[in-house]
Amino acid sequence: MYWEKDIETMDRGKLEALQLSRLKETLEKAGKSPYYTKVFKDCGLDVHQINTLEDVEKLPLTTKDDLREQWPYGFLACGKEDLVRMHSSSGTTGRAIVVFHTKNDIDQWTNLLARSMYMTGMRKSDVFQNLMTYGLFTGGLGFHYGAEKLGALVIPASAGNSKRQIQLMIDFDTTYIHIIPSYALHLTSVFEEMKVDPRKDTKIKGAFVGAEPHSEKMRLIIEDFYGFKAYNSYGLSEMCGPGVAFECPCQNGLHVWEDNFIMEIIDPVSLRRVPDGEEGELVMTTLLREGMPIIRYRTRDLTRIIPGPCECGRTHRRIERIKGRSDDMIIIKGVNIFPIQIERKLMGIPGVGTNYLIILEREDFNDTMIVKVEVQKEFFLGNLKQLENLRRRIVEELKSDILITPKVDLVGPDSLDKSEGKAVRVKDNRKD
Ligand code: AMP
Ligand code: ZN
Repeated sequence: MYWEKDIETMDRGKLEALQLSRLKETLEKAGKSPYYTKVFKDCGLDVHQINTLEDVEKLPLTTKDDLREQWPYGFLACGKEDLVRMHSSSGTTGRAIVVFHTKNDIDQWTNLLARSMYMTGMRKSDVFQNLMTYGLFTGGLGFHYGAEKLGALVIPASAGNSKRQIQLMIDFDTTYIHIIPSYALHLTSVFEEMKVDPRKDTKIKGAFVGAEPHSEKMRLIIEDFYGFKAYNSYGLSEMCGPGVAFECPCQNGLHVWEDNFIMEIIDPVSLRRVPDGEEGELVMTTLLREGMPIIRYRTRDLTRIIPGPCECGRTHRRIERIKGRSDDMIIIKGVNIFPIQIERKLMGIPGVGTNYLIILEREDFNDTMIVKVEVQKEFFLGNLKQLENLRRRIVEELKSDILITPKVDLVGPDSLDKSEGKAVRVKDNRKD
């Protein structure tokens, strides 16, 4: 039932002692990176003063902007020759956040995924089809290595090509899949079109769904259509990727692997810790990473710790499924996008006016992004061909940056609502 029983069911006292000793080692290591050398010095921090887990609150928080500013190597705590892999946070073709791994980092991460998948019931005899993009995104290689370590037969199908995905599932008796929830929903129509009934014509027992927020209702629709269990999988590139927190067979919250991470929930405004059970922003500290240890990382993901033990017997605390974000990041088709990226592109294109609005819609389980863009008067009243060229150019430029093809609607000057106060740039009409 357990991949590593000793660790997964470790008595809380022992687990916390382990966290503390690993934290001390991590602080020593992190202190070697250019970034933390400076930060620790600036805030007068002597890492030897950190002697309890409560002391973690004395440590400085780390943000996505810090990572961006230190691009590419400012967080490195080891020599470049010790690195074996680089990944990046999904979303941009520009200077996305990069995360480096040593051999040990990869081994630990791989183990967390093997542990997570084993927890849900996946075994050596299973066939695992990974429908996540392979490449810089962590969902491809991360799960791939984890499933191989577990001993399963891995089909590295990668994303897209829906009919082929379904054919692979049938031909090779796939029993577990890893898939983005919105894609799992979209795929239902392809199954219908191909007249394949996943309940009868495939042998899939379980799916790992993650990389983007989804509701309990969405999970139930997926489970109902496919006839398998869908386990929520949470992670972020900055910590390693998927494998940070995972649902057990009780499907009541995600166990955060606390031997690898310290988690805190903070109030995103006061930045103070809140007690277990209260909602706030998840903050994580890596405990075993060598290449790029990160201290008190503000994930911006909103959740709460579920108080009390889990029936499965694991002692690692659980978080509730992610409720949203404390910043304006949008996730569409598993890709992270900040409205400012869209703004920057738009403002660089001649003819574009000053206001725009991003609308997210879900139709037939397919998420789309519509960008309404105000056009300067001369353009708007000019000839149609010129206007169509402008529209095409906007689509192309946005696509090259955000990797999603948006639908672009050009509108006249001053036709979009001007909000008083903070501009509302995103209207999310996706219902669950
Ligand atoms: P990336 O580093 O590109 O993989 O993106 C990580 C972000 O994706 C997280 O900070 C979350 O906002 C989101 N995410 C990942 N897994 C989940 C999940 N299971 N539920 C909700 N959001 C998720
Ligand atoms: Zn459990």
